Amino acid sequence: MTLCFSGNDFKYEIEGVMKLFIPATLFNIVYEDKLPGDDDYVFVRMKRFDNYALLYVICYYKGKKGRKAEKAKNNADHELCLSRLLFKVMSQITGIVPKWGVITGIRPVKQVNRYLNLDMSEIEIADALQRDYLCSQEKCDIALKTALAQKKILDRLDKNSFSLYVSIPFCPTRCSYCSFVSQSIDKCMGQIPEYLDNLCKEIEYTGTLVSKLGLVLDTVYFGGGTPTTLEAHQLERLMKTIAASFDMSHLREYTVEAGRPDTITKEKLETIKRNGCSRVSINPQTLSDSVLKKIGRNHTTEQFYKAYELARETGFDCINTDIIAGLPSDDAESFSFTVDKLIEMGAENITVHTLSIKRAARLNRDREEGLLENPADQMVQYATKRLLESGYVPYYLYRQKNMLENLENIGWSKPGRESLYNVYIMEEVQTILAVGAGGSTKLVDLDGKRLERVFNYKFPLEYNKHFDLMLQKKNEVEDFYAQKE
Ligand code: SF4
Repeated sequence: MTLCFSGNDFKYEIEGVMKLFIPATLFNIVYEDKLPGDDDYVFVRMKRFDNYALLYVICYYKGKKGRKAEKAKNNADHELCLSRLLFKVMSQITGIVPKWGVITGIRPVKQVNRYLNLDMSEIEIADALQRDYLCSQEKCDIALKTALAQKKILDRLDKNSFSLYVSIPFCPTRCSYCSFVSQSIDKCMGQIPEYLDNLCKEIEYTGTLVSKLGLVLDTVYFGGGTPTTLEAHQLERLMKTIAASFDMSHLREYTVEAGRPDTITKEKLETIKRNGCSRVSINPQTLSDSVLKKIGRNHTTEQFYKAYELARETGFDCINTDIIAGLPSDDAESFSFTVDKLIEMGAENITVHTLSIKRAARLNRDREEGLLENPADQMVQYATKRLLESGYVPYYLYRQKNMLENLENIGWSKPGRESLYNVYIMEEVQTILAVGAGGSTKLVDLDGKRLERVFNYKFPLEYNKHFDLMLQKKNEVEDFYAQKE
């Protein structure tokens, strides 16, 4: 498929819209004033005049042709106008109407938060999302509910605070649909001792840095990978290093993503609890053993139930459970069972992901093999209905590339049990200092409206190898705050 631009260079936006209809495709981009001679094409033209711009889109796809044009004021958002024209033409041609409309590059809830900051009413916000972004009523509702749940958290945010993210990029085995930087433990066992030594050094270095900068630690999050792949004594060492390196007196939340139930033991849970962890994530992904097998997750539903019970017995009163809609070979019935069961078990947080397939080739292959023929949209709708009925609120929401049916991930919570860290990271409202391989630090200056990222080395091997250079990168944190002054 060729995308041809004339009088404009809105490649990013137009490609984003096209991927809603033809996902996982590489487009041929050309800049010409005439229609391409190719079989399938999109022609996007903008012609400026003194007082207005003439915009038009012509699409030819699988033997069907459509076109739309619009006269727009010179100060209009021409990218958005052209995106809407393209969306309408492609919807006509394909019969597909993606529910998030042309919201592609921005986070929907961020946009709603902007509207709320402009004092717009709920009706005005819904109108704006539908008019400007062609967003469906259903998605407007969920974005608005999420933004309102976040408001209480954002209103209490201390601008001088930060969160610490600790990356443990190891897992017992690698799930077939993993999109994270994570390595199976048997392949990298030898790297772990050096990794932990370096991680402790990075934690200490970061501790010195933040006390110099006068930042206040608000939340800690152990993610990965699967942090509980580590042994209890290794977790203890890390957590004690954190406690010795930072002022913990203002800490409001301490999460350890236990993740895979097959890594959870009583000893590990007691260790993390004793060292201050207040929230754990235990992720079944599905409560169907046959689906678990299909996705290469090396554990059973029985192990999940046991790990969950163990966490309750250890005294955890805030448990998150992640599930995924659209897993290969899953169906509506088994997905509904998973949702109902977790609600019945009383998990404080239930995060409903939609399957996202990292590599385009894989998405196409699995589609061709019929592995993805489950009703992801129906599953998400069921979860939304049941969770709302059961008193949960959506409190963070994000979308990724290559998600089935262009859906989303939503974090649901019992009121008052929302994870602060998840809101901060999604809305980019607080500095997150990341330590460990694969970690990405986000530096946020709300007053100066600045956002910068510093990336750690991705894999443990290079993290260990270039550790001194890694530490030097931390100077960027100081530079960022120096600019603020
Ligand atoms: S447990 Fe999570 S991070 Fe680890 S391999 Fe599976 S999906 Fe990836």
